[in-house]
Parts: sequence; structure tokens; C-alpha cells
Amino acid sequence: MRTPRRQTVTTWVGRIPVGSQHPVVVQSMTNTDTADAEATALQVAQLARTGSEIVRVTVNTREAAAAIPEIVERLRVLGLDVPIVGDFHYNGHILLAEFPETARLLAKYRINPGNVGAGQHHDANFATMIEVAKQYGKPVRIGVNWGSLDQQVLARLMDENAAAGSPKSTTDVTIDAMVTSALESARYAEALGLPHDQIIISVKVSSAPELWQVYRQLAPLCDYPLHLGLTEAGIGMKGMVASSVALAPLLTEGIGDTIRVSLTPEPGAPRKLEVEVAQQILQSLGLRQFLPQVTSCPGCGRTTSTFFQHLAGQIQDYIRDSMPEWKVRYPGVEEMQVAVMGCVVNGPGESKHAHIGISLPGTGEDPRAPVYQDGKLLTTLKGPRIVEDFQALLDRYVEE
Ligand code: SF4
Repeated sequence: MRTPRRQTVTTWVGRIPVGSQHPVVVQSMTNTDTADAEATALQVAQLARTGSEIVRVTVNTREAAAAIPEIVERLRVLGLDVPIVGDFHYNGHILLAEFPETARLLAKYRINPGNVGAGQHHDANFATMIEVAKQYGKPVRIGVNWGSLDQQVLARLMDENAAAGSPKSTTDVTIDAMVTSALESARYAEALGLPHDQIIISVKVSSAPELWQVYRQLAPLCDYPLHLGLTEAGIGMKGMVASSVALAPLLTEGIGDTIRVSLTPEPGAPRKLEVEVAQQILQSLGLRQFLPQVTSCPGCGRTTSTFFQHLAGQIQDYIRDSMPEWKVRYPGVEEMQVAVMGCVVNGPGESKHAHIGISLPGTGEDPRAPVYQDGKLLTTLKGPRIVEDFQALLDRYVEE
């Protein structure tokens, strides 16, 4: 059972509201050189068209900062109004101050309190970024990472733990330090005059149990919206499974207002995969609906021909590819449920429960496939064009 969302204020990132009164937002990040405005704009467009509602780009050099206006303009020409977040480390105070047009066009600034500088520099550099955020009315994300944790905060808490006789493990103190760093930074930002509802917090680690621990510790201590993500989740299937395992319990507990799935891309894999995985996590939890739900059985010894796998894959791809157009023409189409089943054991039952479903008879190279629509037998498809014929029935159902 899902618990209600943890109550937060609403933070607007461009036109996108982030907080417990709104659906959990999907976001992603580019991996192009931001200074290459054309390549970055194209990747932002790909991510946005896949469903990324916010896209973050690294802003690490003067060239990258200078490219932001061109990136935003290219997206405008493409008709895309996706909020662009600037990811700053080390020199964000310099770049934001030197490039006012970039500061104005970015929808949010990510600040890592672990690398804005140490000692007096930390406070001064952090304050510079907050002043720019105030000037342009921008929210910030206080983004704490295990791997770049503020060493002064960590040393302070380690000393306190030692003075108390070291009752806590190093991991527990590190998690305390992440939560402390995030909250102290947020309160400092507010003391500098940034409104309470212009702050989002993240505390990312790279293992699921520690992610649960740090977010469960942070969640009751504030009402800032929380950005969830397993950092450095990994490559391919490992990254997808690790991210799903890490995010699902927290989202089920109502913790998390925006998510990013950080996948190390496999060579040749499209960047948009991280958006599709994030959407699938939210959809599987029943938190959002992005695509028609396709129920397909795994197949077994009853489906000895390869036709069933072929059919299931083709239908899934067809629906995903059709969605951009369907969504525009048929609002609510994402609520549709489709069944693609391998045999008569569960096939007719699942097909009847779906809005439209097809069920193969099991073995055999010459399948006859009954199609059920709204619980009733509509027709039986046969011959070499079953996939195409079922796609045509899907189209007709969506139109109707
Ligand atoms: Fe096997 Fe039929 Fe069940 Fe699919 S529906 S897993 S083919 S028994």
C-alpha cells in the first residue's frame, strides 16, 4: 500500500511545479559538451520529447555558460519550452556572475555545497550564487553527494561522534553529515533572503540501502521538495534494476517529488533510455501514467514458436512510437490497457480485462489469435499479417 505524499511546498522550475501537490516530475541530464550548443540542444530536445519534464546541463566552463542562450534559442525554434537547469560545481559563483543572460535563462541552479569552496570561501561563493538566484527569481537545488560531501561538516560530525564515544558507524555519521550539509545550506540560503519555496534538496548516494536511510532521515526534518536519484547507478540492466530498487520504496512511502535515473549509457544506447526507465518506475508504482499499460506474459513451453516474442515486442514498440502523435490527438490515451498473451491459459482472461487484447493459441507456426475488445471477442486474426492487423485494430480503438 502506498502512503500519501510527504507534504512539501511547491517550487516552480520554469513552468513545471515540483512538490507534493503535483505529480512526481521526471528529469534527466545531458552528456554532451554544453559548449557545443547544437549537439546539446538536440539532446535536450530528444530527452524532452521522450518525456523529460526538466533537463539539466553541466555548466562547467565559460564556453559552456556562454552557450546557454543559444541552446535556449534553438529549443525555442524547435517549439520546446523545457526548463533547463544549470549544474554548477566549483566555479558556479564565477560563471553565474559573469554570464547574466545565462543566469536569467536557466530555470534553476544546482549548487553542490561540498565544492563551492572551503571556509570563508564556502560562505562567500555560496552567497554569490544565492544572490544571483534572488536577483532573477530562480530556485536552487542544494545537491549533496556522498562522493563530494562537504568535508568540514563531515569532520565536525566525526569529532562530535568521537567525543561521544563513537556510538555511530562511519556510514551513519556520513549520512548525518549529508543531511546536515543539505539543511544547513538551505537555511543559510534562506538567511540570505532566498524564499523558502525556491529550494529543492537532494542527498544522493550510490547504494540503495543508504539511499533509503539518508532520505528517510531527511524527509521529516523539512518541507522542501526532494529530488530523488541513485547517483552512479551503473550501466545497462544493472543501473536500471539498481535505480528501480532504490527509488521504489521511497516513492511508495511518499518521499520524492522529482526523480532522475542516472544510467551510464552503453555504447550506442540512446540517452533517452534514462527517461523511459524513470517513467516506467513511476508507472509501475501507479504514480503516473505515461504510456498505455501493455500486459504481456513471459511465454513458456507453450509458446515454442518465436512468433509470440515477435508480436509482443512489435506491439510494445508500436505503442511507444505512436504515443507522441496519439497524445496530441487523443488526450487520455495513456490510460489504455493492452494485453498481448501467449496462450489460452491466461490469454483470454487477461485480454478481457484489458481494453484491447490479443491471445495466441500457444504452439504452432500458423497461429490464430482471438482479439478481445472491451471484454468481448472482436475477431480472430490469422495469416502472415497478424502484427499489422492488430496494430490497425489498436489504431481504430484509439481513434474511437
Ligand atoms: Fe505460458 Fe500461456 Fe502463461 Fe503465457 S499465458 S506464460 S504462454 S501458460
